[in-house]
Amino acid sequence: MTYDVVIIGSGYGGSVVAARLAAKAKVLLVERGRRYGRGAFPTTVTQLARAYRRASNPLGLWQLRLGDGTGNGVVSGLGGASLANYGITERPLDSVFDGWAVSPRELDPYYERALSVLAPTANPRRHELGDAAFLDRVEPGRRVDLRNTIDWTRCTFCGNCVSGCNEGAKRSLDRTFIPIAERGGVELRCETEVVDCTPLVAKANKGQMPGYQLALRPTAGGPIASLKTRQVVLAGGCFGSLDFLARRRGTLPTTQAFGERMSMNGDALFFLYNSGEPLSGEHGAPLSTTARFEIPGADGHPKAVTIISGRMPMMIMPQVARVMPLLTPLLPGTRSAGAERGFSPFAAAGRLWRQLRDVAKVDTGGALASTFMYKLDGQDAAAGRARLSASGEVVMDWPRYGDDPVLRFGRERLGRWAEQVGGRLVDEVGSWPLLRGRAFGVHPLGGCALGDSPDRAVVDPHLRLMRPNGSTYPGFRVVDASVLPGSLGVPPSLTIAALAERAAEALLGELVSCASS
Ligand SMILES: Cc1cc2nc3c(=O)[nH]c(=O)nc-3n(C[C@H](O)[C@H](O)[C@H](O)COP(=O)(O)OP(=O)(O)OC[C@H]3O[C@@H](n4cnc5c(N)ncnc54)[C@H](O)[C@@H]3O)c2cc1C
Repeated sequence: MTYDVVIIGSGYGGSVVAARLAAKAKVLLVERGRRYGRGAFPTTVTQLARAYRRASNPLGLWQLRLGDGTGNGVVSGLGGASLANYGITERPLDSVFDGWAVSPRELDPYYERALSVLAPTANPRRHELGDAAFLDRVEPGRRVDLRNTIDWTRCTFCGNCVSGCNEGAKRSLDRTFIPIAERGGVELRCETEVVDCTPLVAKANKGQMPGYQLALRPTAGGPIASLKTRQVVLAGGCFGSLDFLARRRGTLPTTQAFGERMSMNGDALFFLYNSGEPLSGEHGAPLSTTARFEIPGADGHPKAVTIISGRMPMMIMPQVARVMPLLTPLLPGTRSAGAERGFSPFAAAGRLWRQLRDVAKVDTGGALASTFMYKLDGQDAAAGRARLSASGEVVMDWPRYGDDPVLRFGRERLGRWAEQVGGRLVDEVGSWPLLRGRAFGVHPLGGCALGDSPDRAVVDPHLRLMRPNGSTYPGFRVVDASVLPGSLGVPPSLTIAALAERAAEALLGELVSCASS
C-alpha cells in the first residue's frame, strides 16, 4: 500500500499536519505510545513510577534523557507531550526571531490558525491566587497572566496536569487536532514505532516524487511491516526525531549542523519553601501567571526571560511534605532567606508548626501552602549538543548550562524575592547531588535547526531535510521541537504548532502540484 504522507509521531508538529492534510490526502499517523482516555493516567506516585518508559515497559508514558549538565523529560502517547504539559500557550516576543530564516510576520497567520483550534484561555480565578498577588508586590507591573489549553469549568485545580489530566479538563492534542484528523479520514496507528526509512530510487521518466519505504514495528514487540509513502513527516519530538536521524546517518545523511544548537529554553526549577506568605486556596492550581523580563544578552540583543509561578502537583504533595523538611537543610544551593535568617522564636515555631501540619495532612495552613514553585523559561544560549548515548538514545550535553545568563538572572531575582518573605530558597533543583549537577527541563529544542545554510541548519525554512550539500530530500520534512533554531523564552508548543501549520500548507501545495503534473 502506498500513502501520500506518513507522519511519524503525534505531538504538536505531527497532529497539526495530520489535521490539515485530513480529507485532502491519504495520510497515516504513526504513534509509538498508547491512546490515553479520561482516568487512564497515573493517580499515585507509585503508578507514576510504573509509567516510566524503558526497555521492559516500552509503552510507558514518560522518560528522562540524562546528558552531561542537562536532564529532559520526554513523553510518549497519542498527543505527545501535550498529554503531560501545563497547556501554557504563548507566543514569543518578536525579538526572539532575530537571525531566524522565518520572520514573525510570516508566521502571523499560522499562529492565528493554530490558536483557532487550541483556543487557550486565562484562568478565570487567577486574581484569587496568592502567587499573582505576590508577583504584583515584588515585581509591580511585570505580571502577565498566561493562557492555558484548559477547560476551566472542568478543572479541579489539582495541578496534576503534568502526569496527565484525569478530569478531561485539558484540551490536549488528542482532544483538539487529532479528532479533526480522524474525522477527515487520517488512519491512526498507535503503539507502533517507525524503525527505519529508506529513500526509494526515482524512476527516470515520471517526474513524480519517488518516496520512501518505511519499516514499522509494534512498540511492545512483534513482526516488522513495511509500507511506501510519497512524503514523510518526521515529528517524533526533539529527542524522537534526533534518535531517528542519528541512527540513519547512512541512509539519510544530513548536514554538519545536525545535533548542534540545542536549547533547554532556559528551563530550570526553583522552590521557595515554607515562606510564611500564604497562598490562597487551591494547592495545585496549574501554572497560570508569570513575571516577564528582558535581560541584556552577550551578543548585544536583549533576551526574554519568564519566571512562571505555580505550585506542585497535588499527587506528589504528601510525599514532598514529609521529605522537604529533612532535605532542604542538606541540599546544596539551599539557603535561608530574609526573616528566616534572623532568629525569632515565634517565627521558628510558626515554620515548624506548618511543617508538622503538612505531615499530618497537606492543607491550606501547612508549609506547602506557603511554598512557591518557580519555573524559569528564557532565551538561553542554545549551546547544547546532541550525543547518541550507549543505550542508542540521544541526550543533550551542555556541561555549563547552569552558568547560562538566564539561570544566573533567575537565581539572583528569586533570591531578591526570597529576602522579602523569608523561607528556604532551593536555588536550583539541578544542584541536587542525585541529579549530578544537571538542570532539569521539559522543553528540549533544536538539533535539526531550520535555516538557509547547511553550515548552520539541518532543515530549510519550509522544514525540508537537507542533504550534506544543502540540497533537500524530496518529500522529507522534520516538523517538531527539533527544528527550532534557538530558545523562545516562553513555552514552545504554540510556535511548534505555527511552524507545523506553515509546513502543512507547503506540503499540500506540493501534493497538488505533483498530482497535476
Ligand atoms: C511536563 C511538561 C510540561 C510542559 N508544559 C508546557 C506548557 O505548559 N506549554 C508549552 O508550550 N509546552 C510545554 N511543554 C513542552 C511541549 O509539550 C513540547 O515542547 C511539545 O509537546 C513538543 O511537541 P513536538 O511536536 O516536538 O512532539 P512531542 O510532543 O514530543 O511528541 C512526539 C511524539 O512522537 C512519538 N514518536 C517519537 N518517535 C517515534 C517513532 N519512531 N515512531 C512513532 N512515534 C514516535 C512520541 O511517542 C511522542 O508521542 C511541556 C512538556 C512537559 C514534558
